[in-house]
Amino acid sequence: MLQKNQTVELVIDDIANDGSGVGRADGLAVFVPNTAAGDRISAKIVKATPRLAYGVVQELLSSGPGRSRDACSGCPVYRRCGSCSLRHLTYAEELRVKGRWVSENLRRIGGIDLPAPPCLPSPASDRYRNKAIYPIRMQNGEPVLGFYAKRSHRVEPVGDCLLHPEVFSALCRAALGWIRRHRISVYDEETHTGLIRSLYLRQAEATGEVMACMIANGHSIPAEGALTEELRAACPRTVSIILNVNTARTNVLLGRECRTLWGKDSITDRLCGLSFELSPLSFYQVNRRGAEQLYAAAADFAALTGRETLLDLYCGAGTIGLSMAKRVKQLIGVEIIPEAVENARVNALRNGVENARFLCGDAADAALALEREGISPDVVVIDPPRKGCAPGLTETIARMKPERVVMVSCDSATAARDAASFNALGYRPVRVQAVDMFPRTAHVETVVLLSKGEVDSKKIRVEFSLEDMDMSEFQDGATYTQIKDYVLEHSGLKVSNLYISQIKRKCGIEVGKNYNLPKSEDSRQPMCPPEKEKAIREAFKYFGMI
Ligand code: SAH
Repeated sequence: MLQKNQTVELVIDDIANDGSGVGRADGLAVFVPNTAAGDRISAKIVKATPRLAYGVVQELLSSGPGRSRDACSGCPVYRRCGSCSLRHLTYAEELRVKGRWVSENLRRIGGIDLPAPPCLPSPASDRYRNKAIYPIRMQNGEPVLGFYAKRSHRVEPVGDCLLHPEVFSALCRAALGWIRRHRISVYDEETHTGLIRSLYLRQAEATGEVMACMIANGHSIPAEGALTEELRAACPRTVSIILNVNTARTNVLLGRECRTLWGKDSITDRLCGLSFELSPLSFYQVNRRGAEQLYAAAADFAALTGRETLLDLYCGAGTIGLSMAKRVKQLIGVEIIPEAVENARVNALRNGVENARFLCGDAADAALALEREGISPDVVVIDPPRKGCAPGLTETIARMKPERVVMVSCDSATAARDAASFNALGYRPVRVQAVDMFPRTAHVETVVLLSKGEVDSKKIRVEFSLEDMDMSEFQDGATYTQIKDYVLEHSGLKVSNLYISQIKRKCGIEVGKNYNLPKSEDSRQPMCPPEKEKAIREAFKYFGMI
């Protein structure tokens, strides 16, 4: 077994989903951040388990072909920050890695083997983000505004982040200057006291309009006039200054209440040739030009002719649906945040779209209500948050019998699970496209087209079962797939979801309800053999579940 602090020589084989390179030493997988496939390195082991280890680069002995020579040079905080966990790769290599992650998740989690075209590149790989939220904390008696350092709640001063627009730096300096000069109190997470929690900035790239929003643990702030003046002086393109009230003891960043301190209540951007109004609480894709590509891929999959009823679930400010509205008979959007729904309605009007209506509510509830209303959409676009579709939603959609479902997702693992659920309901996955919306970071967007019809057994590799639909796959602790991979990697044994759930129960870990169900009435469940139980328990220990 490898020991902590030991030095080993490794060749990196490939890049894992979190952006770390993976090599082998003593037959064990060693995960090392900031490495590229083909790198030969000497690594110091920082954590070792009997089956797996983590290391840091001590010396780069020779570089793999995917390592970039200069991408990191412009960023002073690359190593401390951790957001740009792929910045050390060439962009071509980053796209290769991301395309593979998407295909592999679809195959391993969803049992879907589709030919995948290369991952679409983002039009810009730096300064593409239009939104940032900077935590503000007291450290060593001084207010600090920045970002959380890797795996910690210590705030690092932001400097000039290469993913953010340059104007954000000037606003950060102004906000911090205001806190210092007016001795404004700063929020303390532990005691839940102090006022200013974070600075939230958003820029409408196409129009240049900027919104600055102070997130505070209180309903008002002192020296309000000075704040608005100082922010406007730092960035004359600021058109909206907002106070967001977040008095909850939570790490959720934004509160529900907003008050405009100066200027407009929203900013306006242009996307896909349309104009969109965006309130602080409304979701908006962080990479505007990347979003145009994403929506183009979704529109291509939707194959609209002008005759369709289009249902846009999880629609935010209405952007996807409205970008397609001219090519459908009728558009219905559903979104849970009231301010975003209000934006979507105004956005329809300002773009002359008269065939759209927007409902405010939970996507699963709204879909049921639409089903009861007798609505049968021809095409459904779904773009849920990271956790994927709400339970029951895929079934409701299937009952409405659309011809096509276009899934857009920022998490290919949950997209794979939802695609598998549709597949089991008779929707065949036919096309997939990875779109890079988040260059330099370990995130990628996935678009999947599912089409009503018979399941094509050539494309669907594994049988889909109730177990795969269980939401517990995505609850705390490791996923079933991670546990299986760990067990296979470390003991060479293959274990089923059933065995994992049996051992979970033995260990007193909560198990999703479907795991208790035998697949058929008279089936006798096989029991997990002792050597597999031991390997599963080791995985639980490794993932901190027991
Ligand atoms: N399609 C939009 C937004 C995608 S982000 C775009 O491309 O901009 C996901 C959206 O789902 C967010 O706007 C979020 O507020 C919304 N949302 C989250 N949970 C929801 C739920 N249960 N029902 C409906 N909408 C939800």
